[in-house]
Amino acid sequence: MPEAAAPKKLQTANIPPPRHVMVLDGQGWVGLLDHMGTETTAVNAARVSFGKIRETMNERDLVLLEYLIQNRHTSPLEHIVFTFSVHCPLFVRSQWHRHRTWSYNEISRRYTEEEIECFIPGHLRAQSADNRQASVDSADLDQAGCRSLIEQQNRTAVELYEKLLAQGVCREQARGVLPQNLMTTFWATVDLGNLIHFLDLRDSAHAQAEIREYAAGIKQLVQPLVPNIARIMKW
Ligand SMILES: Cc1cc2nc3c(=O)[nH]c(=O)nc-3n(C[C@H](O)[C@H](O)[C@H](O)COP(=O)(O)OP(=O)(O)OC[C@H]3O[C@@H](n4cnc5c(N)ncnc54)[C@H](O)[C@@H]3O)c2cc1C
Repeated sequence: MPEAAAPKKLQTANIPPPRHVMVLDGQGWVGLLDHMGTETTAVNAARVSFGKIRETMNERDLVLLEYLIQNRHTSPLEHIVFTFSVHCPLFVRSQWHRHRTWSYNEISRRYTEEEIECFIPGHLRAQSADNRQASVDSADLDQAGCRSLIEQQNRTAVELYEKLLAQGVCREQARGVLPQNLMTTFWATVDLGNLIHFLDLRDSAHAQAEIREYAAGIKQLVQPLVPNIARIMKW
């Protein structure tokens, strides 16, 4: 008799994949869902014009990898591809989705009402006096008091959202009252050349601390898969 198929395990969008890094005090995460290609793939792609394909890398290939990266000859790196699952506040999502070379799919508040979570910063920073985009640590901030105000505001917004749904307002309009701190989940696929560009920009002192945590998490996830490139990039 044929074996009965194992029941399919349904995962909700908000469950991190097995390989993930927690960020934002455990409120967010970035996980590696899938990947394609190795460093050998990139080396073979770089040498394809000579018709040489190797099964494994040797020391000359390491020199080639360094040359490719240092000279921004990044197209061979585009044969290595990663898919991440990201759980982050909307404001991090907005910054991330400016990177047009990634492919994205995101949970939709037009379809789902459940699992509404809002981010509460673990540590608040003050506005930088000399850089309009930047923030600085400050001993003057009332951390507990301000965090409590944010928590209250998050809760008020979610309660209003739920009240609107209960009154019969559709999800696609009711979601307008949810805050920037709303947590969202998306899948994001990118090749290694464009990932390096993203990490340069988003794990940088110029980037917002919150998205920086995700970029650092990605470095941890991909380092074991591309160890020589990670060393060259000083990840
Ligand atoms: C610290 C920081 C502050 C920022 N502040 C602001 C801000 O105040 N306001 C704001 O609006 N944005 C801001 N941004 C977003 C920024 O302008 C870029 O949109 C974002 O960093 C994506 O970079 P990118 O276009 O290089 O990446 P991708 O979109 O991933 O593109 C990668 C590369 O592909 C090429 N490319 C992609 N699409 C095109 C295209 N259509 N035409 C030509 N070449 C293309 C470019 O070479 C590009 O560098 C900020 C980004 C950072 C890192």
